[in-house]
Amino acid sequence: MKVDFHCHSTASDGSLSPEALLALAQQHQVEMLALTDHDTTAGYRSLIEPAKAAGIHLISGAEISCQWLGQTIHIVGLDFDDENPVLQQGLAHIREARKIRAQQILDKLSTKANTHLQQLPAHVERLVGDGVIGRGHIAQAMCQLGLVSHNAQAFDRYLKRGRPGYVAAQWPELAEVVQWITQAGGLAVVAHPGLYGLTSNKLNRLLEGFVAAGGQGLEVVNAPRANAEQVGMAQRAQRFGLYASLGSDFHHPQQSWRGLGWLAPLPKGCVPIWQAFKPAAVIPI
Ligand code: AMP
Ligand code: MN
Ligand code: MN
Ligand code: MN
Repeated sequence: MKVDFHCHSTASDGSLSPEALLALAQQHQVEMLALTDHDTTAGYRSLIEPAKAAGIHLISGAEISCQWLGQTIHIVGLDFDDENPVLQQGLAHIREARKIRAQQILDKLSTKANTHLQQLPAHVERLVGDGVIGRGHIAQAMCQLGLVSHNAQAFDRYLKRGRPGYVAAQWPELAEVVQWITQAGGLAVVAHPGLYGLTSNKLNRLLEGFVAAGGQGLEVVNAPRANAEQVGMAQRAQRFGLYASLGSDFHHPQQSWRGLGWLAPLPKGCVPIWQAFKPAAVIPI
């Protein structure tokens, strides 16, 4: 079965509209999909009816920013009640923090004697539209202005910790975010566990704290091809009693190394996260 439980649309820092993303999922024969925009469910909401018409099993989702021991961690929430007030208030709070941080980043960069940097805010605003602002938009605007040749370069030169456009974000604590998700009836999943640069020991400590807070899943597969990291993550999922999730973290169709639903199968011994999903609502005739 082809699934993807981690991807982005124009509701956050992706470049396809939710509808275009759904069409791509259909084209790639993705049967179960979760749109997990950063700190918003607006895109998910807009797809509920279209997904039914397209015959795709759409799972509610969001990728939520939080911190653990001062480090930013992303938690994917899946299969929650999208109308839950505690969850929605939490997300609204993070979106405010995102706006404040983005303004601080742009202010910092505009003090540089570079006319392109001074043009950034207008470009960023156009790219964000009515979506949730993120550093991805600033990176894309930098590409458009010719300041950098690709997004990763924007992070390396300007946006990551230690660079001139870095501003530490004030995200909620991991345990709090896990609680928002679980009290809304959902499953909390540690997103792309290999991306944080944690030592094996520290990752294990993170998972211990995550499980203690009520977390239930680990994103074991993020890549199109099977690799050793996935096997290590599958072992951790088993050790900590976590369901295994898969997600491409798709943002842009131009990223040729990433495709919606283009994912290696879960390694042996994993319990797939969809086994924990609530059954799709039965529509009365
Ligand atoms: P934010 O949540 O606003 O701090 O931005 C995080 C997002 O920026 C991630 O979800 C990615 O979309 C993007 N991002 C982070 N690091 C990089 C990188 N090195 N290269 C390209 N995109 C990145
Ligand atoms: Mn992103
Ligand atoms: Mn992420
Ligand atoms: Mn993501």
